[in-house]
Amino acid sequence: MIGDRIAEVKEQIRLRCEKSNRDPSEVTLIAVSKTKPLSMITEAMESGQAEFGENKVQEMCEKAAQLDGQPVHWHLIGHLQSNKVKKAVSVAELIHSVDSLSLAQEIDKYAAKAGKCQDILLEVNVADEESKFGLKPDEVIPLVKEIAGLKNLRLRGLMTVAPYTDDAETNRPYFRALHDLMVDINKKNIDNISVDILSMGMSGDYGVAVEEGATHVRVGTYLFGERDYSK
Ligand SMILES: *Cc1c(COP(=O)(O)O)cnc(C)c1O
Repeated sequence: MIGDRIAEVKEQIRLRCEKSNRDPSEVTLIAVSKTKPLSMITEAMESGQAEFGENKVQEMCEKAAQLDGQPVHWHLIGHLQSNKVKKAVSVAELIHSVDSLSLAQEIDKYAAKAGKCQDILLEVNVADEESKFGLKPDEVIPLVKEIAGLKNLRLRGLMTVAPYTDDAETNRPYFRALHDLMVDINKKNIDNISVDILSMGMSGDYGVAVEEGATHVRVGTYLFGERDYSK
């Protein structure tokens, strides 16, 4: 069942890549398993899924501990508080949600202690929604320049959570803007900085995101069903 859904999403990714002259191998499907039980993760793993996304550090760490030793890669996609950085760094392969210098410095500090170079993305609020975390687009390049000197961080790219919509097309300009911002960063030739990851697109709009250059799509509801937050 989950395996069929994963296959469907991958087929959609393939079609969208074909349409936009991209190679499907450039696009990673992150299965967003937040609030979902471990049994669903292991079911997804049976169809070869290895990339999973969680938005809470505690939940990510608990699931990671239960799957210790298995070929699973964890993506932290939710807002990260500085007091949870140490735990986040111990488990996350990629932290998608960095949105301040102080957070970047904190991650750098704990990555150094762990003897690790932590891959991160900067979260950008491209649609300028009040309710959302993330940097304003014009704050991104100044922050990139500041974090370029942090030795235990590797900035890999950008992430956005586009507005919730019934019509994915309305998010196309936001995905395009995130892509353009990535191009701008690379053009600045900042020391140590070369970015190639664009984490954008969720259940409702990942197809459009792929057409606009997403390298990582974060799909939860379509794979695992609606989330129940009442418990
Ligand atoms: C929950 C979540 C997703 C997945 O959203 P769906 O609409 O369930 O696919 C993707 N990205 C982030 C940051 C999320 O918090």
